[in-house]
Amino acid sequence: MSLRSLALLALLASGALAQGTAPDATADFIRVTGTEPLPAPLPALVDGLEASRLRAHIAFLSDPKREGRGLGSRGLEATVRYLQEQVKAAGLPPLGPGYVQTVPLREVRPGHGTVRLRLGSASLTFRAGRDAVLPTVAPSRLEGPCVFVGFGIQEPGLGHDDFRGLDVRGKVVIFRDGIPSGAAWQKPELLEKYLSSRPADRYDARLALLEKLGARAAIALEEGLDQRIRVGKEPALPYFLAAPGVPSSGEPPLARLALTPGLRTLLQGPREGTANLVIRGRVRALQGQNLLARLEGSDPALRREAILLGAHMDHLGMPAGVLHPGADDNASGVAALLEILRSLAASPIRPRRTVLFAFWTGEEEGKFGSGHYTRQPRWPLATTSAYLNLDMIGHPWLQEALRTLVAEAGLKQPEAFLDGLAPAHFAEPGLSTSHRELGPVLALAGRGTGMSLHLDWTDGKNGGSDYRDFARREVPFVRFFGDYFPDYHKPGDTLDQLDPEQVRRMARLALATAWLLADR
Ligand SMILES: [Zn+2]
Repeated sequence: MSLRSLALLALLASGALAQGTAPDATADFIRVTGTEPLPAPLPALVDGLEASRLRAHIAFLSDPKREGRGLGSRGLEATVRYLQEQVKAAGLPPLGPGYVQTVPLREVRPGHGTVRLRLGSASLTFRAGRDAVLPTVAPSRLEGPCVFVGFGIQEPGLGHDDFRGLDVRGKVVIFRDGIPSGAAWQKPELLEKYLSSRPADRYDARLALLEKLGARAAIALEEGLDQRIRVGKEPALPYFLAAPGVPSSGEPPLARLALTPGLRTLLQGPREGTANLVIRGRVRALQGQNLLARLEGSDPALRREAILLGAHMDHLGMPAGVLHPGADDNASGVAALLEILRSLAASPIRPRRTVLFAFWTGEEEGKFGSGHYTRQPRWPLATTSAYLNLDMIGHPWLQEALRTLVAEAGLKQPEAFLDGLAPAHFAEPGLSTSHRELGPVLALAGRGTGMSLHLDWTDGKNGGSDYRDFARREVPFVRFFGDYFPDYHKPGDTLDQLDPEQVRRMARLALATAWLLADR
């Protein structure tokens, strides 16, 4: 799961408010007290999900022997074998000729690339490993006109637009890290949007904007980057790409340069010039693995339609030798998917439609597995009536975050929603804006499993997990997700930090949703 979705949500939300199109919030908050009966055999199925079994899968997946399930690691291969054995033991056949769908990938070990900037008659050269961090793209050269745009920020609410009167289409856009001074900028949402400690998150909103403006590449100027490189805080780690020829995201590639005294002087001259990027690295081909299984529907006609449930198996591996166990991200979703699969496979009554299961590879590095599947689906996307995604479901919401959500939504009676509501019994599924018919299904699943809900309608096309490529192909989707937590994407994302009971509650909600969609 990536934080990119948050930055984009902020962008979209500001746009929606500006246009006065904010929908009625009240209808999207569903307060559940007690549980309403679900159709048979669903009560038995959801009650059959056991926290102890979920916990055992998470323990296996997040064990140090799985090496953080990084792409290309033996730990991820062992994960695929483990899951394949479990699926076979549950008695489900593969979707397609075999359980494994190969996902062609490339690994790049970065070399010593350079960035040269020429503004007016002066020029400066930056070097990877010294004062530059090069874009994570295939080794290549890129040369073109560049323009310096200040902070590279557009905030109409604050009357700030670094792009006013500028056409940056096809250009390399140079901006400095940070935000303008002034109290108006010290708002939590702006600090989160522009000053996150992770470079990948800090530049999300700016890169999304530059993509919209048609920029060719981006260069961020950072205070002290050369020192951080020198002390090893910016290691040049291997990265992964899809196979050659697969269209990548339209986001411009990003280089980061140290804002050195020489560069400061250069920027006092003309703001336009030329930039020359040389990206070097050693490339090796790699085969990723999706794992796909199928439960045939019971209705002779409707079984030609399917709903697909997916969760990503991979995590960050051991960057710079440090284990990232990824218990919540996403051993929790994989464990839930496997137990939902076992529960449906063991049921004497099957839903009318076919149910497909996908354990994806390469989500963290670029949603490679789900992206490959949507280009080469083993079940036609046209008859895939919904995609359900499970990613990071082991951490419940915090009371404070829930209060903020309700307050900002402007509910007429916020206390009526919050009174007696334990955050552990609250979930915020994300649903395709263009498929409002999903709403009543989620409401029914929430009422049947004792979960109060906020339906988070989103187009999902730039979303932070594997539903993104389904959303882009207009497959209706539902996103199951708990909440971010302090050790997100850190070595501290361990089994003892999450709550297997929470995984169970979310698995119950997802299983009920899946059944109701498949048996409509
Ligand atoms: Zn993640």
